[in-house]
Amino acid sequence: MKRRPIHTFTFIAVLLVETLSGIAFAAGFQQHMIQKGETLSEIAQKYKVPLKSIIQANSIKSVHRIQTGKTLRIPKDAFVIKEIMYQVRPGDTLIGIANRHNVDWKDLQRLNRISSPRSLQIGTEIRIPHDTVSGFGDPLRIPLVLTSKYGYRPHPVTGRYRMHEGIDLRAAIGTRVYASKGGRVIFAGRKGGYGKLVGIEHEDNFTTWYGHLSRIRVKVGQIVSQGKVIGLSGNTGISTGPHLHFEIRYKGRSEKPTKYITIP
Ligand SMILES: [Zn+2]
Repeated sequence: MKRRPIHTFTFIAVLLVETLSGIAFAAGFQQHMIQKGETLSEIAQKYKVPLKSIIQANSIKSVHRIQTGKTLRIPKDAFVIKEIMYQVRPGDTLIGIANRHNVDWKDLQRLNRISSPRSLQIGTEIRIPHDTVSGFGDPLRIPLVLTSKYGYRPHPVTGRYRMHEGIDLRAAIGTRVYASKGGRVIFAGRKGGYGKLVGIEHEDNFTTWYGHLSRIRVKVGQIVSQGKVIGLSGNTGISTGPHLHFEIRYKGRSEKPTKYITIP
């Protein structure tokens, strides 16, 4: 007779936990039943959430194997999906564009309502989901050590609370600095607190910036490929010690670089 109340208590406790998690579930997610022929990207577009957030919320292992009729958890309050516009150039193929942006070409075809992928018109603007943009490489080829994060912080020199538009990476003076992605040099010279600075313009309205350099090895207008040495790191400008200040900007606005490059 002693066992029974304990058992009942456990049962109620489990029920309570399940109900509570049920409430939390309802508050954080909405549900979507997968329709025939629907892709995860389309669903992400429909709810305006990043594809990755759906993949994570549902522990999906392969985006190509989703079952019709299955109910997905769609995270609410996720970031609104961003898109970039890509202008088709001579020689471009839809598969090529998709591969370069790490997306499925069929998703690009659907998203842009392209009837025939073989007859892409030069100059046409193609929408590409932004959260899948990648292709940025490390600006240093030494183990990356973050000495200051992206975001608001008290400025190391002035002490004023300010936005840090990039990340700081530890680098002894004279360490080679590499173009994170191919592009065209749009700035090479001194600029205020940045000291000796290089700016590179990439496709899709991205730019990367490399500050506090000791030497600059490129000129404005020069086309550089990914991995090209653009200068040597240093301690020029307003800086408390040798390091590389690295920024990634989209349409002129800074983005969190660790969205694009991995720092262990
Ligand atoms: Zn910095």
